[in-house]
Amino acid sequence: RAEAQGNGRVEYYTHALGADAKDRTRLLQGLHRAFDHDRLFIVYQPKLDLRTRRTVGVEALMRWRAEDGSLIPPDRFIPVAEQSGLIVGLGAWALRTALSAVQELDKAGFGDIRMGVNVSAVQFAQPEFVADLDRALASKGVDPRRLELEVTESVALMGMDRVVSVLDEVRSRKVAVAIDDFGTGFSSLSYLDQLPADRIKIDRSFVDHLETDRRGARIARLIVPLGHQLGMKVVAEGVETEGQLEALLELGCDEAQGYLFARPMPLDELLVWLGARDEGRVAEGEA
Ligand code: C2E
Ligand code: MG
Ligand code: MG
Ligand code: MG
Repeated sequence: RAEAQGNGRVEYYTHALGADAKDRTRLLQGLHRAFDHDRLFIVYQPKLDLRTRRTVGVEALMRWRAEDGSLIPPDRFIPVAEQSGLIVGLGAWALRTALSAVQELDKAGFGDIRMGVNVSAVQFAQPEFVADLDRALASKGVDPRRLELEVTESVALMGMDRVVSVLDEVRSRKVAVAIDDFGTGFSSLSYLDQLPADRIKIDRSFVDHLETDRRGARIARLIVPLGHQLGMKVVAEGVETEGQLEALLELGCDEAQGYLFARPMPLDELLVWLGARDEGRVAEGEA
């Protein structure tokens, strides 16, 4: 009986895997088509300096508009793109699009806003990664100091020696580096200590729990001084409430993004949003 049950499980498992594989194949085909037909686009979410309340950066986030008009979230299609290698092309496109947006920000008078671009570990591990980055920066004529690459701890999988040397190359060009989703992945403190980076981003899951005394809250409280000890700035993602903001301020967190301030939006809306805040005048008033 135990054997039969075991067999049943194996069959069930195989069946489930088969369905997943079909889903993935369909999703990947759709993603290829969407990429070819310009149904992918980038939205930008503001990041604020918590002390000055000024917008110091934005994060570029990929969106896929399906043929039926619905949005397919990146958490669904990025993993498929990574497995297939399509992420290399998608990532290169996202980088160029984000750099074009930097040019638009410049033209509109927002010449000091940093552009954060997510880079998949798969993309980052490509031997041509840094050369591609150089070409993209040169072709868009963007000052490398305006760009920040967001990588997750999973880049450590390619071997610490290589990660460190690629990150050093990136930073030698004055492009900044942020460790994204910190605390959710391969969080080895010895890795973090070795990674040459400018910022760490506290994952949204920890920020979520900041107002409670649950486990996540304790982690968020630890990450801020940890980052500072390592000489990095600390950025919180997913800030949704005043209570979370207060807690982060108290902790000495440096920057934050979240629905409390703004949702990710298309570039034209971002320009309107930035203009409406009239940040230049606020600064004069404060000075
Ligand atoms: P991430 O890099 O950690 O991006 C932050 C995510 O938090 C974004 O989800 C953003 O929309 C969401 N977020 C920000 N503030 C709030 C908030 O207050 N509440 C809630 N509920 N969510 C908030 P999104 O845009 O769905 O992206 C999910 C993930 O997909 C990203 O996480 C990133 O890992 C990946 N991703 C997105 N765009 C790209 C891309 O161009 N390249 C690569 N490689 N990955 C990308
Ligand atoms: Mg990110
Ligand atoms: Mg993140
Ligand atoms: Mg995250």
